[in-house]
Amino acid sequence: MAIEREAVIAALKSVTDPDSGKDIVSAGVVRALHVDGDAVRFVVEVAEDRAEAYGPVRQAAEDAVKALGVTSVSAVMTAHSAPKPPPDLKGGAKSKPAGPEKIPGVDRIIAIASGKGGVGKSTVSANLACALAAEGRKVGLLDADVFGPSQPRMLGVSGRPASPDGKTILPMRNFGVTMMSIGLMVNEGQAVVWRGPMLMGALQQMLMQVQWGALDVLLVDLPPGTGDVQMTLAQKAHVDGAIVVSTPQDVALLDARKGIDMFNQMNVPIVGLIENMSTHICSNCGHEEHIFGHGGVSAESAKLGIPLLAEIPLHIDIRTSSDDGTPIVVSKPDSPQAGAFRDLARTLVAAERA
Ligand code: ADP
Repeated sequence: MAIEREAVIAALKSVTDPDSGKDIVSAGVVRALHVDGDAVRFVVEVAEDRAEAYGPVRQAAEDAVKALGVTSVSAVMTAHSAPKPPPDLKGGAKSKPAGPEKIPGVDRIIAIASGKGGVGKSTVSANLACALAAEGRKVGLLDADVFGPSQPRMLGVSGRPASPDGKTILPMRNFGVTMMSIGLMVNEGQAVVWRGPMLMGALQQMLMQVQWGALDVLLVDLPPGTGDVQMTLAQKAHVDGAIVVSTPQDVALLDARKGIDMFNQMNVPIVGLIENMSTHICSNCGHEEHIFGHGGVSAESAKLGIPLLAEIPLHIDIRTSSDDGTPIVVSKPDSPQAGAFRDLARTLVAAERA
């Protein structure tokens, strides 16, 4: 059932803005409204110091739209420090929509996603970044996995990023990769319990306030699943493509499919799928075994008409290298395991994706 944009606006108008007493549409709190068939998404934009107070408002707005019978509603909250811009729901030619922006100096953004945690998304991101650097690409890696930032450990980076001017942040660099992670902004071992608006603010800051410099490609290591970070990234930055990492297990594939649907809805092209932990190679005898089954991702990618970009083996050296802070592409560049990542990098460069 297709929902009328006017009906959505009317539903949103039933929610009162606590600060102005007006409805949230007239108050300019609702931004970037997209109505796509029966899927609705919008941003609730509030001043930085009011973010917490507006949590229930965001929820009420989402509930009001849900009550129209739409199948999918996504209301993302962002906090800003600048004065509130006027409402922008008409999409008229004169008003500039709060749409995705290019990051200065960054040619392309590729998001690395997974349907669930633990499938090796961060391992793939770290190794792919190093492999692209080895191919001579200027590569950045933004660790946006706010719930479990692991890039500082995997890339052997520690310390606080400097901010000499108090406005912009200098990224860190290792193995030819320019990187920034939410993990560098909190104390090590401290659980990152971000609330929605803080999380959005942190992501925006890492995208726009980090001095990324000139990059051919910025890889973004996303949190698992389909949540606010994914939505915010696609709304705030121009994302050129997404790579979905999955293991061969069915359950992971089902989750991966949700991720693919989400990117389709956000008009982010899927570059391809990666099957990780595809084949187990014994470190003693080199014997190959399909512990988690094999070929599931390949079958799925054929069905969906999406390229299968790589099949990465399950090998202990991949894990120990990551744990030691030197990805296998750097620690054992000539091993077959590193070769899988290097081939992936070459495939992306050849396809002009990175
Ligand atoms: P995610 O980012 O999806 O949560 P990680 O990249 O953190 O997953 O990987 C989860 C664990 O699996 C880590 O300990 C990592 O070292 C290990 N791992 C990931 N891919 C492989 C692989 N191909 N072979 C061996 N271990 C792997």
